[in-house]
Parts: sequence; C-alpha cells; structure tokens
Amino acid sequence: MKKVVIVGGGIAGMTAGVLLQKAGFTTEIYEKNALPGGHCTGWKREGYFIDNCIHWLTGTRPGSALHELWKEIGALGDTVEVHEKEMFFSSKLNGQTLTFWRDKERTRKEMLELSPEDEEEINKLIKYVSMAETMTVPVEKPFDAMNFIDYMKLGMSMKAMGKVMKEYGNMDINELAMRFKHPLIQRAIVDYMPSGYQAYAFLVSYGTVTGGNGDIPKGGSLAMSLRIAEKYKGYGGVIHTNAGVKSILIDGKMAEGILLENGSKVEADYVICACDTDYTFRKLLSEKYMPKGLMKMYADRDKYPVSSGFQIAYAVDGVFPELTGTRIFSCDDMSVGSQTVKRMSIQSYDYEPNFAPEGKIILQTNFSQTESDYKYWESLYIDKESYEKRKAEIAEQALQRVEKEYPFLAGKIHVIDVWSPMTYTRYCNSYKGAYMSFVTTKQAKSITVPGVVKGLDNVLLASQWLMGPGGLPTAAAMGRFAAWRIMKRRNKE
Ligand SMILES: Cc1cc2nc3c(=O)[nH]c(=O)nc-3n(C[C@H](O)[C@H](O)[C@H](O)COP(=O)(O)OP(=O)(O)OC[C@H]3O[C@@H](n4cnc5c(N)ncnc54)[C@H](O)[C@@H]3O)c2cc1C
Repeated sequence: MKKVVIVGGGIAGMTAGVLLQKAGFTTEIYEKNALPGGHCTGWKREGYFIDNCIHWLTGTRPGSALHELWKEIGALGDTVEVHEKEMFFSSKLNGQTLTFWRDKERTRKEMLELSPEDEEEINKLIKYVSMAETMTVPVEKPFDAMNFIDYMKLGMSMKAMGKVMKEYGNMDINELAMRFKHPLIQRAIVDYMPSGYQAYAFLVSYGTVTGGNGDIPKGGSLAMSLRIAEKYKGYGGVIHTNAGVKSILIDGKMAEGILLENGSKVEADYVICACDTDYTFRKLLSEKYMPKGLMKMYADRDKYPVSSGFQIAYAVDGVFPELTGTRIFSCDDMSVGSQTVKRMSIQSYDYEPNFAPEGKIILQTNFSQTESDYKYWESLYIDKESYEKRKAEIAEQALQRVEKEYPFLAGKIHVIDVWSPMTYTRYCNSYKGAYMSFVTTKQAKSITVPGVVKGLDNVLLASQWLMGPGGLPTAAAMGRFAAWRIMKRRNKE
C-alpha cells in the first residue's frame, strides 16, 4: 500500500490522515510541536485552561455533509456534548447595549426598541440572516472536480444564500453599518470583524449561530484536536510530534519524501503539505511551485489582507453572569501594536467549568491586529526583553480598562497570559501571525486554490489557506480534498 507523509498535524493534516488511514493507506504525520492540533489548541496557566480557538464550530447542527465529516474524524459524535451559544456577541456604546442573540427575534426586538427609525433595515437584516443560515461548506469533493450536476445541487442547497449575496455581496462591513442610523447598531456591526471584511461574512457568521450550526463542543479546542488525533491513531496512523520538517525532497517531477529538522529522511509515495502555505512554498519547497492563485493573493497585500490578534487571558475570582458571552465596550485610548484602540472585548469561558478552578472563571481579550501591527511586533521580537515588557504594559493597561468597565472586578482579576501575532508565527509558522486565511475584500475576487502542485505529481496541499477566510471547516474540507485526490488516483490505478 502507498505511503503518505503529512507535514503538519493541524485540523487539515489530521483530517487527511484519518480519511486515508480509514481507506487503507499507510500514513504518518510529522508535526513540529509537542501536541497535534495546530491553531486549534489551548494551554494551562496557574490552574486555568486557556482555550484559544473555537468561538463557534460551523457544522455542529446535524444534517449537513460537514457535520458528517466532523463525526467521521472524531471532532463531534454521540458522546461529544455541545455547548449551545446563547449569544453571538454584545456591544455597548454610550451606556446602551445591543446583543446579537441566538434567538434572532429577540435581537430584532432589541434593535427595534433601540432604533425604531431603522425598522426597515433591521427587518431586512434579520430576514437575510435567516437566509444565511443555509450557508454550508461543501466538503464532498474538490471544487475543480465538481461537475455540472454537483454545482446544480450545491446551488439548490444554497439558493437562499444566493439572495444574501445579491443583497449584501458587494458591500463591506462599514457600508453595512452605515445603512443604519443608530450609532450603537453602526458600532456593533463593525465591532466584531476586522475592517475590510465583506458584509455577508457578518450575516453568515451570525446566521451560523442563529441557525444552531455554530456551537462549541464541550472540552473546547484542544480536546477536539486530541479526539481527532485519537481517531487517527485508532485507524493505525502515526503522529510524530516535535518533528519539524525542514524540506520536501524532490527528484524531477516527484517528491521522494521529507527531510526532518533532525537530519533524518523519510520516504513517501505521496507528500501532503498541511501547514501554512507561505511556509510550504518559501521554506519547504520552492516559490517556483506556488500555485498562481496563492501567488496573486500573497502579492496583493491590499486586496487580500490577513489579520491576527493581541490577546490577554485573565483569571477571575468569582463567577459573574454579567460577564457571560463576548462583550465589546469603549475604553480609554491605548496603543496596541501600531494602532490606537478605543474599543475592546472580553469573552467569558464560563460555559466550561473545567477551564477554571471551582468558583472562578477565565476571561480573554482579543485586539484584532493588522499586517502593520505584525511589522511592529516582528521588529520588537528581535529584542525579547523589550517585546515581553511591551506585552506586559499593554496587558496591564487592558486590565485597568476592564476594571473600569466592570468595577465589581477590582481586586478579583489578574492577568495570567499575554500573546501576540508573533506567538502564532513561532508556534505554527503562520504567515504574518494570521490564524485565519486571507480576508476577501470587496475589491477582490475570492480565489480558491486547487490543492495540487503543478510540476510535482505526488505533492498535495491541505490547508485553510487554500480558501478564504479559512477557519476549521475550511481546514477539514481541504484535508478531505487531499485525501479524495489520493484515493481517486488509487482507484484509477
Ligand atoms: C484565537 C483563534 C480563534 C479562532 N477561532 C475560530 C473559530 O471560532 N472557528 C473556526 O472555524 N476557526 C477559528 N480559528 C481558526 C482555526 O484555528 C484555523 O482555521 C485552523 O485551525 C487551521 O487549520 P490548518 O490545519 O489549516 O492549519 P494549522 O492549524 O496552522 O496547522 C498546521 C500545522 O502544521 C504544523 N507545522 C508548521 N510548520 C511545520 C513544519 N515545518 N514541520 C512540521 N509541522 C509544521 C503547525 O505546527 C500546525 O500544527 C481560530 C484560531 C485562533 C488562533
């Protein structure tokens, strides 16, 4: 049986691994870190668990191919409880609060009470959010392998989504906000997404929550990654951790295998590159093999921006229902990276009691960071002492602002960890610290990159970077597509 070597044990790599093992292939995953999961991970600090990925997992609602895929790879299943999100997020401005509830009728009511003069736009937004609930990530086979009938079926299943695209497809998040008159509604809409995002992304994200299709598997991100790893091992797959790959060994039009950082070579019939695509083509392979679509997106930094986060975790002595969910509020100006921020968020992880000692909770703040911010952190990182000092200063300022907003927290909250876009580059070799893929802006055509490498017959790609804006479903889909291509070739042979 053919041997497949997979570079990277994130969600994409492990998805490909599970499906190939199940189909009878011999596979091995080589992962640079001590744990599989890549960006879908978490870690302990001071007896608290910092969950650092899943805010919503698209595909938790049964009845879609994506849901079946999550079950097949062990991410979800009959024994996996799912936490139902009560709200998407909540925004506060000038003493007024607006919450985007799971129950969209409740949201509509709250919006109408806040701003009767926006009635028409509010009703329209809620109507289109319902339509956006039909959005699904197609996972059956690669898009370039789909035929007319496949496209027809996909079109039919997402008919309502077509209407959303017609109405909001040519608008960015700021333009959507400006359709409303009330300053809080305007503010709330731009609060959640980095600027540049297209308006429909807001509707799709919120629709995922209102449609009950974006909940959180119990145990959080790392637990989900470890379940997938167990599934993989259960089928006989082998994960080598602390096993960084230095390069892919090429002979003519074929990869012979991989060279590990420790100098050993591993032979393979197929190599799946399941790590960051920038790293794949600039370090493991050669830029000359980079697919045109990717090259175009990496070259056009305005039209295909990426974003990251500056994040802080706080331990809180006490359980406070007023902190539940994700809350965004105005704060005194502070500089984070190269930008001055005036708004900040806190997210409570109180839905998972195991993340904190009894009677306590953990909160997190995530300041969205642009590519300019990344440059700031990158240059500071050269001097580790200054880098750590700046991180601590920002965390302290953020803590003061949280205490100002929630005075009952004074003396009951402290910072337990701080991480920056550089953390993602160090941990996952992430391009500009991004943990999602390219943002598709209004000015740019969305590009889906086929997972094959021109000029190399047995090298495949599996990564969220093949389709913006990335995320866990995209990673799983791309892993599946890589496995699909290898199975298809075996069937031909
Ligand atoms: C704070 C945060 C919040 C998020 N929220 C959500 C959310 O709510 N919903 C959602 O859908 N998505 C979310 N995401 C995004 C999600 O985590 C990613 O889209 C997904 O995990 C990407 O998976 P991947 O397999 O494509 O890539 P990765 O996770 O990057 O996996 C690639 C793997 O390759 C390894 N690797 C890299 N270089 C090498 C090498 N040379 N040798 C060996 N191994 C290597 C890396 O260590 C990594 O394990 C979030 C991410 C973060 C960080």
